[in-house]
Amino acid sequence: MWTKGSHHSKKDNKRALKKMKSFDLTKQYKLFKKDINKKILQVLSSGSYILGRNVKSFENNVCKYLNTKYTVSCNSGTDALVMSLRALNIGKDDQVITTPFTYFATSEAISLVGAQPVFADINPHTFNINPKRIEKLITNKTRAILSVNLFGQACELDKISQIAKMYDLSHIEDCAQSFGTTYKTKQTGTYGNIGCFSFFPTKNLGCFGDGGLIVAKNKKIYESLLKLRTHGGIKRNQHDMIGYNSRLDEIQAAILDIKLKYIDKLIKQRIGVAGAYYKLIKNEKIRLPYKDINGKHSFNQFTIRVKNRYKMEKHLIKHKIPYGIYYSKPIYKYKAYSAYSHTNLPMVEKVCNECLSLPIYPELELKDIRIISRVLNDYE
Ligand SMILES: *Cc1c(COP(=O)(O)O)cnc(C)c1O
Repeated sequence: MWTKGSHHSKKDNKRALKKMKSFDLTKQYKLFKKDINKKILQVLSSGSYILGRNVKSFENNVCKYLNTKYTVSCNSGTDALVMSLRALNIGKDDQVITTPFTYFATSEAISLVGAQPVFADINPHTFNINPKRIEKLITNKTRAILSVNLFGQACELDKISQIAKMYDLSHIEDCAQSFGTTYKTKQTGTYGNIGCFSFFPTKNLGCFGDGGLIVAKNKKIYESLLKLRTHGGIKRNQHDMIGYNSRLDEIQAAILDIKLKYIDKLIKQRIGVAGAYYKLIKNEKIRLPYKDINGKHSFNQFTIRVKNRYKMEKHLIKHKIPYGIYYSKPIYKYKAYSAYSHTNLPMVEKVCNECLSLPIYPELELKDIRIISRVLNDYE
């Protein structure tokens, strides 16, 4: 019996391993398939495909969800960042203080408007920009702080906003990975002057293509953003500035409006997966992600640290456990930023060498979490 049982479970494990992925977007589609398919067909026969009522409805519902006044949807998280900087009149000869431990798009947006990113070191526990490193980087060219709520965990948003106020700088939040994350009493994206979200499929709230959204506190900024997303004007024959063609389409907006109703549940499931990892992974060699007690981590990623990552990667590959390295290099080490190659921020460098992200998505099953945890516990 025992042999048979163990043989059976081994086979099960093998099957599970074969199917295991870092993320599986088809599972969520299956969950909402009926509603989404129906809504897509409605949009297709409506004749209204750009800036119609689905976009308006979604923007209004995000306002309610985040408890904020102004939202402008757009084509991507990257465009959200670019247009935010533009709306704040940030450009040539301006400096923006930001983190180099993030996705490339964060600093790319700064460079795209002609401004200069200035990189601050991070807190190795939270992976987020260290507010203590910001002040000494402020010069008379500094115009803004662009902070990132990385992996679904908020930065020390009150402190950063305070520094920005003190030096008369703008504070932009890159919330691409933090939809639904809270810090103290508020949602991320509502602390800064502007918050930028992405609806790329793997984010907390993902669509079936590209999408983004900007949260603005101030009506003037909001009005500029409305113009920027449609070639610099909102009326026919109005082009007050050089703008963009950056809109969320009706189909994606309709899909996002459906998913938004379930976002709290989806985040709860992510937190559940993380909770299981915290409970099951017991290995001194692995540092589990630190959770700031002032916020609610939404676990867009579950990122561990391990001293000898190369050895850990070999171990995971051998046991067919998928993983991701976010991020293996500080932004200032990419070829596109060769002008910054002299930069050396010790905490960023350390974390880039030690970080490793485990599979996490709302639909990840406990049996897979158990297998992954067991493999991690076997690492020596
Ligand atoms: C995904 C991401 C972006 C870019 O969003 P897109 O919608 O892909 O353009 C920007 N910043 C961070 C931190 C991201 O994770």
